[in-house]
Amino acid sequence: MGKLALHWKILIGMGAGVLFALILTNFSWGPNFIADWIKPFGTIFINALKLIAVPLILGSLIKGISDLKDISKLSKMGFRTISIYIGTTVIAVCIGLLIVNIIKPGNTIAESTRTELVENYGGEAEMARQGAEEQKQAGPLQPLVDLVPENIIGAASYNANMLQVIFFAIFFGVSLILIPEEVGKPVKSFFDGFNDVILKMIDLIMLTAPYGVFALLAALVVESPSADLFAALAMYALCVLIGLGLMIGFYMLLVWVFTKRTPSFFLKGISPAQLLGFSTSSSAATLPVTMERVEEHLGVESDVSSFVLPIGATINMDGTSLYQAVAAVFIAQAFGMDLSFAAQMGIVATATLASIGSAAVPGAGMVMLVIVLAQAGIPEAGLALIFAVDRPLDMCRTTVNISGDAAVSMLVAKSIGRLKDISLIKKDKF
Ligand code: ASP
Repeated sequence: MGKLALHWKILIGMGAGVLFALILTNFSWGPNFIADWIKPFGTIFINALKLIAVPLILGSLIKGISDLKDISKLSKMGFRTISIYIGTTVIAVCIGLLIVNIIKPGNTIAESTRTELVENYGGEAEMARQGAEEQKQAGPLQPLVDLVPENIIGAASYNANMLQVIFFAIFFGVSLILIPEEVGKPVKSFFDGFNDVILKMIDLIMLTAPYGVFALLAALVVESPSADLFAALAMYALCVLIGLGLMIGFYMLLVWVFTKRTPSFFLKGISPAQLLGFSTSSSAATLPVTMERVEEHLGVESDVSSFVLPIGATINMDGTSLYQAVAAVFIAQAFGMDLSFAAQMGIVATATLASIGSAAVPGAGMVMLVIVLAQAGIPEAGLALIFAVDRPLDMCRTTVNISGDAAVSMLVAKSIGRLKDISLIKKDKF
């Protein structure tokens, strides 16, 4: 396998994992064998990726900001990053709404299927609802309060607090620029070296990626629900998938128009991160690889990628927002509700905010969907309707979330003259 490009190796690992699980499900002992002896390797792989998320953000963001040497560059970059992120998210929600209103997948759900789904998945839906309840009870400024940790060690000890770690790293990096260069030099050198070590760790973990995704996909296959339920939800899933496909097309177009890099250049560069996002369903776990691909293969300078990508992994979730819009309208249709134009505009606002608030972990988008449903007056019990297909859709929307971050990082880099010349970029073997 040595000579093959990484995305091929990952694809082979994924295919082999699915095939292996399909064969083993024919034996009574097969599913248990996978749960006991294969799945743990997938968990170890994801843990290893998550393990470096916090040190990576600290190292790369502090290094990136201190490389800028100038606060005005940072504020220019920050403003552009946030504006483009919000812009692409709103576009994603609108695409989702358009598709679900044209195809109307909810109208194809039979009364009996609806009852069956609600009965089967009512328990899980209730858990998601409770998770969202805490978020709903918070005041309007709570997200701002949550941004500032009271203790950095505490914040760094929990991956879900990534925004707090980002806040600390930016604060630290900015302060490092503000002190005299001579005084800050040892600190800067430390973080430069620290960052290189973390990047090496990512390289080493990625050597095991084909085996990691083999285990992850094999476990997913044996744990997935019956095919009948999938079939009932096929139209809904199709709407989400069409929307996600359009988003990938939209990114390629943006990159092409604004940076003159072709769609195939973009896809070749980012595909290993996309495949990993697909296998892990977590933008946070994929972040180290997204960062490596964007810098080494898409040509974004590290001072830009180290700022744009960690923020994107936590707040820019175009795939999630699109899915939330489709899911909300689908549930409304399935319950025979007719959503007004104003209600749908409300969905644009809440799905944008809910996707920003979703954590970059598996299933987070579904938890935050509760808020979109509640705001639009759609029955929350409807969550049970879509539970059966949530995991595969989560895999696909995570792929889009990652692609969006990568595309935006190229746009921001181009806009401030930090996109490397194409001749300086690593070529992948095919
Ligand atoms: N799993 C997604 C992500 O990490 C979030 C979601 O559930 O939509 O990007």
